[in-house]
Amino acid sequence: MMVPDMILIRFGEFTIKGRNRKQFEKRMVEQVRRVVAPFPAAKLIQTFGRLYIQLNGESYEAVAVKLKHVFGIVSFSPVRHAEMDLEAIRAAALDVMRAQPTEPRTFKVSVRRVVKTFPHDSQEMNRLVGGHVLRAMPDLKVDVRKPEVHLRVELQPEGAFVFSDVVPAAGGFPYGTNGKAMLMLSGGIDSPVAGYLAMRKGLEIEAVHFHSYPFTSEQAKEKVITLARRLSEISGATLKLHLVQFTDIQTSFTQCNQDHLIITLMRRSMLRIGQLLAEKNEALGIVTGDSLGQVASQTLGSMNVIGRDIDLPLLRPLIMTDKQEIINLAEEIGTYETSILPYEDCCTLFVPRSPSTNPNLNVVRKVESFVPNLAGMIEEAVRGTETMLIKPDDLSQAHKTGEEDWF
Ligand code: ATP
Ligand code: MG
Repeated sequence: MMVPDMILIRFGEFTIKGRNRKQFEKRMVEQVRRVVAPFPAAKLIQTFGRLYIQLNGESYEAVAVKLKHVFGIVSFSPVRHAEMDLEAIRAAALDVMRAQPTEPRTFKVSVRRVVKTFPHDSQEMNRLVGGHVLRAMPDLKVDVRKPEVHLRVELQPEGAFVFSDVVPAAGGFPYGTNGKAMLMLSGGIDSPVAGYLAMRKGLEIEAVHFHSYPFTSEQAKEKVITLARRLSEISGATLKLHLVQFTDIQTSFTQCNQDHLIITLMRRSMLRIGQLLAEKNEALGIVTGDSLGQVASQTLGSMNVIGRDIDLPLLRPLIMTDKQEIINLAEEIGTYETSILPYEDCCTLFVPRSPSTNPNLNVVRKVESFVPNLAGMIEEAVRGTETMLIKPDDLSQAHKTGEEDWF
């Protein structure tokens, strides 16, 4: 196994024009610094809009596992760093080729020459490095169209970088660079995944959870806290979790004799409260885990009625995905195990036998107008909100690392 000296990090789509690139880069560096913090020998190196981690003996694999989840990183590569000298570059190239997990049959070399001072041009370098590899590995053949291994050499002012792997990472925007939204976080599978996707797009997230204590249990609350903590670990930032007592509102809906509308009514009130909390906390959108057609409240007809009286944009990252795709993502981000714990959610408590898939907006508004003091109860719920600051667990182990401009 080749032991890489460095990791070369590539940024994602936030490099598009018209955005505040400097600010984004700063956030990016902060995030990467957080990842390397538990590895005291590792150093962050910034140069010409590129970011490297110099490993100094720290485990590449251990760093890579964390790096994959940093929003804004589109990919990274383990690299060998070599002196600007043909023989050194050749030796590094051979190391990289010999370290492939299975013996490759074909390869090609691409040399990118950023510094023009090097005595050989790119074409010559391709031949000089490729020839050296072919002599040492006689079974290998060159295939310029579909090589099994694409060996890359970059000649930068800081030296030569030799690598073949490009590891895909989370992509998206650095956390918090696209504004703030309020996530409606249930204890289910979907909403934590929706939160993840929102964060990946650079949204800072606060979460609101509705409970019907004492009908819902203490464990149900713990479960949501665990999910929130996982999200905060992924972003590396503290997450505000708003816990809202929904018992009174829910109970009054059960007294309307409109069982098939109960979920519609509950969702509308949840969104109203969510919107009030969003406004209070300067969030400009509401994120939910809705996925089209998944349950009665997520048909287009239901969503139309549920969202009709809300002014903030409703963001539904999962709307066009299938359940299995959501489950796969939940497993990947580490929320699935928690989400499937069996504790009651407030919505499953009074779930009607036949919830409406196509509620009538006027009827729903009428029913709401008959609920005594609904507006007052909504205000009361907002006033009584319990807000927790959820901190990522692994922050406690973090310690500062040194940093250099260049070697
Ligand atoms: P999830 O797996 O996220 O619970 P679900 O498929 O069970 O979703 P619903 O229960 O219909 O779907 O909820 C739809 C969305 O409404 C959720 O994704 C979430 O955003 C929001 N929501 C539902 N219940 C709650 C709750 N108790 N607190 C906060 N948000 C909720
Ligand atoms: Mg649910």
